[in-house]
Amino acid sequence: MSSTTARSRPTAIGSKPRLLLIGAGHAHLHLLHQSSLLSRFDVTLVDPGAFWYSGLASGVLAGDHSPATDRIDPATLCHGRGVALVRARLCALNTDARQALLSNGTSLAFDRLGLNLGSAPVLRSSDDEASSDSAASLPGDKQTHWQIKPIPHLVRLRRSLERRFQRRQSVSVEILGAGASGVEIACAIEALGRRHQLTAGALTIRLRHRGSGPLPEAPARARRYLLAALERRGILVVDSRHDRHLPASDIVDATGLGPPRGLERFGLPTIDGRGIAIDPSLEVQGTDGVFASGDCAALIDHPLPRLGVHGVRQGPVLARNLIASLDPQASLTSYRPPARALSIVNLGHGEALALYGNAWWGGRLASRLKRHLDLNFMQRTRRLR
Ligand SMILES: Cc1cc2nc3c(=O)[nH]c(=O)nc-3n(C[C@H](O)[C@H](O)[C@H](O)COP(=O)(O)OP(=O)(O)OC[C@H]3O[C@@H](n4cnc5c(N)ncnc54)[C@H](O)[C@@H]3O)c2cc1C
Repeated sequence: MSSTTARSRPTAIGSKPRLLLIGAGHAHLHLLHQSSLLSRFDVTLVDPGAFWYSGLASGVLAGDHSPATDRIDPATLCHGRGVALVRARLCALNTDARQALLSNGTSLAFDRLGLNLGSAPVLRSSDDEASSDSAASLPGDKQTHWQIKPIPHLVRLRRSLERRFQRRQSVSVEILGAGASGVEIACAIEALGRRHQLTAGALTIRLRHRGSGPLPEAPARARRYLLAALERRGILVVDSRHDRHLPASDIVDATGLGPPRGLERFGLPTIDGRGIAIDPSLEVQGTDGVFASGDCAALIDHPLPRLGVHGVRQGPVLARNLIASLDPQASLTSYRPPARALSIVNLGHGEALALYGNAWWGGRLASRLKRHLDLNFMQRTRRLR
């Protein structure tokens, strides 16, 4: 499906149109490699930090990879490509005046705008699974709560655990949520503990679910494979309905991701709980030349899971449509989400569980494939073309 709309031409005469990219997410990093796009626009990228690749995050937590392996400084991609980088956050937007207000107090004008802002942990009400009283703290000890996004939180979690492992302090971690992220984090913490040769009982890991068990959407046999793998690692699977108060030194909230906080400040149409409302062309509904991609964007009729793979696949569509948007006669291309996507859950110790629709396989080959795909992605994204 393609669409043509009457769209504005950039106003500045004789100069290139200004493309403002907010957020160094997957789709925007793809744009930085597209010389046909970069040659048509004056491009500015705004991001307060770095790109962190979640595919490698569990490997970083487990101590298999250094944090540097998982991180790309956007400055290295902008440099030499004529792309200006501003280290700041977007605070407010005026799409009529085509102005973006940044956290450093400056305001940037744009002709075309891209938003690739990622996602954030969902804030829970006090009676929810992730509330602070869902696990009791150990007497005399403070309890630390961890979010799984942004990814640097997991780097801090690793450092905190390593410090305590080295001091031979006992640690009990409760992971709230037994989806793919929760399972990966439980296995990564166990692998990190094993790396430190902890004595029996020094590390307790509980993976908490709400009655549906770990990876509820996986085929039954894959789930049995997973339960056996968790048991071999000594990870306790806990059902919230029967058991609410167990002492824990650390709580990790893996209950789910939602839209970035404060999206409403930008005055764009949003879909409750999903993100900025976009057409299949990735253009924000009812706007002209404002695009959104990745986790922060919500395709109107097609709810998608929050997966980096969609941001990656949206990159080429976004590049094409930004260029097409300069030509009032050109039609925009639609993003067609794949019917199913390969998901490989890292179980640590060189083992993984691969899921593709109803097909699955577990073991070393799945882990090797994941490692290959993830490291390859990072290498390709870093490389100057
Ligand atoms: C532990 C874990 C493991 C995961 N594993 C996988 C996996 O194996 N495969 C998979 O497909 N998905 C995985 N995911 C999901 C994946 O993390 C997300 O879907 C993906 O990161 C979303 O990418 P994105 O391009 O939308 O944004 P991100 O890659 O998150 O980038 C967003 C960028 O926007 C910037 N930003 C945010 N707000 C502002 C602002 N106001 N102004 C300027 N910049 C801003 C941020 O600094 C960041 O650089 C995992 C998630 C977690 C938590």
